[in-house]
Amino acid sequence: MATSSSAQSSTSGKNARAFISPSDLTFAWDGCHRCLWLKYNHGVSAPLFMPLVGELSALQEAHFDNADAKSVAPALPAGRVRDRGGWVKSRPIEVQGRETPYAIRGKYDLLMDFDDGTIGIIDCKFQGRDTDKSDFYAAQLEAYAYALENPAQGDPQMVSVLGLLVWSPKSPQGNPADGYHLNLNWSWRPIERNPAALTRRLGDFIYVISGTTPERDSGCEQCRYISQRREIFGNE
Ligand code: SF4
Repeated sequence: MATSSSAQSSTSGKNARAFISPSDLTFAWDGCHRCLWLKYNHGVSAPLFMPLVGELSALQEAHFDNADAKSVAPALPAGRVRDRGGWVKSRPIEVQGRETPYAIRGKYDLLMDFDDGTIGIIDCKFQGRDTDKSDFYAAQLEAYAYALENPAQGDPQMVSVLGLLVWSPKSPQGNPADGYHLNLNWSWRPIERNPAALTRRLGDFIYVISGTTPERDSGCEQCRYISQRREIFGNE
């Protein structure tokens, strides 16, 4: 379990968050916990610069609008894409049998309906290389499943499939007269259901954001930039 060893206050500000974002269980959890704590206790997030990521995954999602499951990935069970870009919200998360003030809230990419009555969650990724990142994203996908199986409102739905649909650039094609195309690699990266691992991750996550301010990570480029800037400009 991560530690929070600073003597600073653990008091939450007026912009404290009550909803845990599934994507924070991967990238933000993997980094320094000080900025994560700041986000959940004071609603302050570092600006992110991720050019093209949103546009490319929106293209991917739109391409599979209402698509047959086999045309999304042949390994999927029979079914269709029911929805894309929808929100999920869970009931309060319990840690060691006690209800916490936190719940999961997030937006999935593709929601599948399978012929056997179960559903699936697919996350669209446009990566620089066709590498397998299914272990890294497992907690994020499992969190969507948790919210669908333990919804804040409505009936629980049973999630049978989680996975990543990965596109990556292969080669350009074409010429100025006919126009250009970008050939893509694609891969289906299934993620095994693991609710127990999510329970552990959520317990650790809530422990960190509910505790005192964590120490900063001495290797962080962003913190180094902030310190150097402050040395030159002070707080202006
Ligand atoms: S080291 Fe500093 S800037 Fe970097 S993540 Fe931690 S608190 Fe944030």
